[in-house]
Amino acid sequence: MTPCPCQVSPAPNSLSQAIAYSDCCQPYHNGLKKAETAERLMRTRYSAFVKVLPEYIVTTTLPAQQSLLDVAAIEDWAKQTPWAGLEIIQHTPKLGKRHAQVEFKAFYTTADAQQAAHHERSTFVKVKDEAVNETWFFLDPTVAMSVTQKQPCICGSGEKFKRCCGMYIEN
Ligand SMILES: [Zn+2]
Ligand SMILES: [Zn+2]
Repeated sequence: MTPCPCQVSPAPNSLSQAIAYSDCCQPYHNGLKKAETAERLMRTRYSAFVKVLPEYIVTTTLPAQQSLLDVAAIEDWAKQTPWAGLEIIQHTPKLGKRHAQVEFKAFYTTADAQQAAHHERSTFVKVKDEAVNETWFFLDPTVAMSVTQKQPCICGSGEKFKRCCGMYIEN
């Protein structure tokens, strides 16, 4: 059984029993399931990098940011990185009304066979559609948005950008 990429962790406190890709991130990648929490979305996005599924990376980013993503660059980066595992350090499921943060280490193997990690804290936002379905999206802090602090937020919450997602992304 091949464990799901998000279940591979070089950290000492990793899971004792690995979960197969088909029981973990695959149903999310196939569109059969929708991430219930920010941590689940984080895990499935990491697995999507390992499996080189740039489309999943795009569709799980906040819709207002999707057209600004460089899909070819995402694909190249996913392919060229020798991924070595994921460690979720902390999941803060509730940050204000609709945000959450996940602190993680995404491990990879360097050219001289050492292990290194991208240690980051990602922010996620929960968006409600007209049918009041809630969907979690990754809030990309690196894409430049042409929105002022006083304009309505890019997530569609109806609040001012500065009081909503603007608190978590530079602009
Ligand atoms: Zn997984
Ligand atoms: Zn917002």
